[in-house]
Parts: sequence; C-alpha cells; structure tokens
Amino acid sequence: MRARILALASLLAAASLSAQNSALDAKVDQELPSLVTTYKALHAAPELSHHEDKTAAMLAHELRGFGYDVTEHVGKYPKPEWEGHGIFALMKNGAGPTVLVRADMDALPVEEQTGLLYASHVHTKNDAGVDVGVMHACGHDIHITSLIGTAKLLAAMKDQWHGTLVLIGQPSEETIDGAKSMLADGLYSRIPKPDYALALHDSSELETGKIAYTPGYALASSTSVDVTIRGRGAHGSRPEVSKDPIVLAAQFILAIQTIVSRENSPFDPAVVTVGSIHGGTKYNIIPDDVHLQLTIRTYKEEVRQHILASLDRIAKGVALAGGVPEDRAPIVKASETEVTPAMYNDPALSEREVSALKRGLGADNIVEKPPVMGSEDFGQFGLEGHKIPTFMFMVGAIDTDRIATSQKTGVPLPSLHSSLFWPVPDTTIRTGVKAMTVAVLELMKK
Ligand SMILES: [Zn+2]
Ligand SMILES: [Zn+2]
Repeated sequence: MRARILALASLLAAASLSAQNSALDAKVDQELPSLVTTYKALHAAPELSHHEDKTAAMLAHELRGFGYDVTEHVGKYPKPEWEGHGIFALMKNGAGPTVLVRADMDALPVEEQTGLLYASHVHTKNDAGVDVGVMHACGHDIHITSLIGTAKLLAAMKDQWHGTLVLIGQPSEETIDGAKSMLADGLYSRIPKPDYALALHDSSELETGKIAYTPGYALASSTSVDVTIRGRGAHGSRPEVSKDPIVLAAQFILAIQTIVSRENSPFDPAVVTVGSIHGGTKYNIIPDDVHLQLTIRTYKEEVRQHILASLDRIAKGVALAGGVPEDRAPIVKASETEVTPAMYNDPALSEREVSALKRGLGADNIVEKPPVMGSEDFGQFGLEGHKIPTFMFMVGAIDTDRIATSQKTGVPLPSLHSSLFWPVPDTTIRTGVKAMTVAVLELMKK
C-alpha cells in the first residue's frame, strides 16, 4: 500500500512538474518573436567596450517598462575619458534572498563576415583612432536579449518568488574591466549585497537547446601584456648601423614558446599568445621599435607570476644577445586594468542549479564540460575569496546541421570572436530565457 502511495505521489509530482514546465514554455514562446526582433536590432548596432551608451540606454528603457527601478551610468575607470555605461535594475518583492543576474553588453573590433540579413555594418574609430568594424562576435547581444526576456517573465511571475532581484547590464567584459568598474563605483553599497550571482554565456560549439556547466574553476585568469622591443632605426640598406627590433621581436616570439613547454609543469594549464605585432612604416626603413600585445591565461596565480617574470627575462636576454644598449632595453608591462582572476563556479550552488535546470529543461539537455582557457570578469561580482557564490552556465548556440557538417568535413566551427560566428537566434534565446528564469526561481521561489 505504502509503495503504491509513494508511486502515486511521485507520479503527481512529475505531472505537476511537467505542467509547470509547459506553463513556462508557453510564457517564453509568447515573448520570443519580440525578443528575436530586439536581438536582431542589437546585433546590427554593436558598440565597443567603454562605449556601450546606446545599448545600455535601450536595456534600461526595457527594464523600466517592466517595473524595475533602474540606475544608469554606473562605472568608474582609471581613464577619466571612459564613461561608465553600467546599469543596475532592482525589483524588491518582500523579504527573501538577493539574487544578481548579469548580462554583458559590449561588442568587438571585428568586421562581420556572416552575410546575415541583420549583420552589422558598423564602423568606428577605436581608442587608438584606427577605423575598425564592430561586431557582436561573442554573442553578448544574446545575453542582453536573454536578460530582457528573463526580466519580463519574472516581473510577471512576482507571486511565485520573493526577495530582491538585481539585474546588471555590464559594460566592457571584453576588456575585462567592466565588472571592476561597477564595483569601483560603489555597486555593493548602492544595492543590497547579493546572496548569489548568476550569468550565462553562449557557446559556439554546443548545440542550441542545450546547457553546459563546469563546477569549480571553469575559466582561466587573463592578463594582457604590452611588450616594446626597442632597437636603433636605420636605412633598410644599412643594417650594420642598426639594432633591428623586427629581427629581435621575431627571436623573442620564438623564444617565449618555451615558457609553457619547458618551464611550466604540464599539470598547470597555461597559454601565452601574441595577438598583435606592429612595427615599421615602409619597405626600406628599419624602425626604432616594435610593439607586441600578448594575452596570458593560467589557473594558478604563481604560474601567472612565473610567466610574467619569464617574459621580462627573455625579452631582456634577446636584447642583450642582440647588442642593444641598456638604455634601449625592452619594456614588458602587464596591464593593471585588463586583468581578471580565474572564474569559480561555487560547487554547492552549481549542484543546486544543475538539478533545477535538469528538472526545467530535461536532464538530456544539461551537460557537464571540462574547464577552458577562456576568461570572464563575471567572477568579480563574487568578490575576492569567492565571498558571494557565483554560477555561470553556457547556452548552446549552434544548429545540429552546422555541427554535423563540421564533424563530417573536419572544418572547425567558427569560434567566439570569429567574424563568421553566428548563434541561432530563436532557440538560443528561448533556452537562455528559460534556463535563467529557472535558475533564479530555484533561489527565490516561495
Ligand atoms: Zn568575448
Ligand atoms: Zn563574451
């Protein structure tokens, strides 16, 4: 008898869960057409990091329309010419936990090549005054749209949750100084300090409709480094009177390949990438210097410190071997602003959210993934020492046809930041909105 009652109870629970899920599905589907329109408008009008004014104004306007109390122009940068374009939006709904949900808003200096009808044709001058194409090549437009959908649904479902919901439109994620800029502008003294912080990011590898997660350390630390190799310029026909910084830079680039392969334990993941190199003006001039921009990714702080010291040592060693005078020694400078620690998904919060997501979206759609060497500054909202539990999950953005073609041909799919990357709008936004709504309700439900 008892077994039969238990079986009946679990059947009833399953039936009520599936009714809840289809009610939520219906609400998301009702909003989807207008969300896709919003997404396409955002995609066609991307703005670079530190310049997200129109995007932020649009998000603030939407959230105000749903009844949120919105504060704009949040963010303080060390460079006074950069304005803070962050926003926070509050909805107070009685006593209960405070949950922060963050979406990042900035785009990248990439010239879009997707050929989509709603592709970006935006060009602008970057901070160095160079004309660049601008593209939402990381899918932050998906994140903003998902936040708008989640905000609208949760505002309409106020009877089902309690506490304070804080929505964040974060600027400058790509330069990893946006979260910091909001905290530096007193974010946590202007809102109730969150009990939990949540975020999502689209994935350029995962099938749309699916969610991926990594408990514990999930994303690496990132540090931008500027290297200036200085020499002595001369006529291109007179190398004997020069100290050629182009040749020295070439030697430096090859020499630093041994940092990860020969100086670092294979058990400590690390990446050293030279992303840009600029030097010279003309065929027949040996320039005075060459400028390189590097990114370093590690999980451990001591590995990061070791790599920075090695870059400095190798740069100086190459210059010494090349006979560069001491007063023209190379300059290796780690950025003080473009730096963020490894992203940590609180294991207990991850476990709780993963089971909620499995109930809400189906266990088959939730997959665990190993950590990657990508980086995020979302972890900053958890404060140093992971004081506030944070959880970020990935939302699949690619249709099955493209995944199958890539597997068949062996040609990799365009990654995030590629000029050819494009997420499937409808199913990706639907999954993003539903997953984030489920994740918030798990923490705030009555
Ligand atoms: Zn990115
Ligand atoms: Zn991103």
